[in-house]
Amino acid sequence: MTTTVTAYAAASAKAPLERTTIERRTVGEHDVLIDIRFAGICHSDIHQAREEWGEAIFPMVPGHEIAGIVEKVGPGVTRFKVGDRVGVGCMVDSCGVCEPCRSGHEQHCLEGNIQTYNGVGKDGEPTYGGYSQKVVVTEGFVVGIPDGISLDVAAPLLCAGITTYSPLKHWGAGPGKKVAVIGLGGLGHMGVKIAHALGAEVTVLSQSLRKKDDGLRLGADHYYATSDPKTFEELAGSFDIILSTVSAPLDFGAYLNLLKVGGALVNVGAPEEPIALNLFSLIGGNKILAGSAIGGIAETQEMLDFCAEHRLGAEIELIAAAEINEAYERVLGSDVRYRFVIDTATI
Ligand code: NAP
Ligand code: ZN
Repeated sequence: MTTTVTAYAAASAKAPLERTTIERRTVGEHDVLIDIRFAGICHSDIHQAREEWGEAIFPMVPGHEIAGIVEKVGPGVTRFKVGDRVGVGCMVDSCGVCEPCRSGHEQHCLEGNIQTYNGVGKDGEPTYGGYSQKVVVTEGFVVGIPDGISLDVAAPLLCAGITTYSPLKHWGAGPGKKVAVIGLGGLGHMGVKIAHALGAEVTVLSQSLRKKDDGLRLGADHYYATSDPKTFEELAGSFDIILSTVSAPLDFGAYLNLLKVGGALVNVGAPEEPIALNLFSLIGGNKILAGSAIGGIAETQEMLDFCAEHRLGAEIELIAAAEINEAYERVLGSDVRYRFVIDTATI
């Protein structure tokens, strides 16, 4: 028997999100039914609800930063039991047999991972995300939220946390390394916290200085405004790693110039428009320009354990579901401090 649950959905691209009902599938052998308590609002929700990444599936229930409590498990589930605190991020399934899946990089599944929303499940039905009361997910794509982190500030870790943790680890952020984070939004503020906890010297590169006090409090050692051309002169050749979390196209050439010889600029921002790059900005100094997509399931669990150990959660503004559309406008205006989280009891 499917379960009917309330959700917030966009009926079409650019339509405001409104309350509706959706069906959740019957709990199968390896499925976990999660009573969703909190759902973060990622900028990717806005990109997709507005169809900025190509053709999308409507109605769309966004939300891939899910934290909740296990309400029911299928008979074959071994890792979770009723009452467990759990999370679900950007993926809910993958082929499970290709080389990336077998090596813990399900996000790079050769068949394409099944996205938490705006995707099609193995049952052929559209997937619906976290702006809803409950979700059914196969246990391999559910992670445990350690006791040390409350569920509301844990929710954003399921996307913003892993998307910054994975590249920071991959590119070696740690003691003796200078790391810059471009954009102090949802991803950026977690990037600052995690890079600081990893032991790196952290600089925020924000459009203005208006969030400087916050940035320093979150763990940054330095804070610069990119609207000031002097920033680019002063910081030339400074960083081992630059992590760009910006949701709009950037002049990557200007930022590559801020890297040390052999340094890496890792981009996770996903604007719809392409960028232009003068390749000489990579050749001089053997610079690296890289991308990074979320992280695998095992790494997501590792990130949650790391955050619990270092007492890290997101800085959140808890909102009611009726405020989602207003929150979207504030995210678009870079006016988010630093993640909106929906109290799903209000859905
Ligand atoms: P967000 O909360 O809106 O943060 C983005 C930040 O970028 C803003 O707070 C702002 O910071 C800066 N920014 C915005 N417009 C800018 C502009 N025109 N020029 C320069 N800086 C600008 O968004 P988010 O949720 O962190 O997501 C950021 C991006 O990452 C989105 O494109 C999202 O789709 C993408 N994403 C990618 C992955 C992945 O796996 N690669 C995963 C999740 C999200 P300041 O005010 O400090 O300048
Ligand atoms: Zn996201």
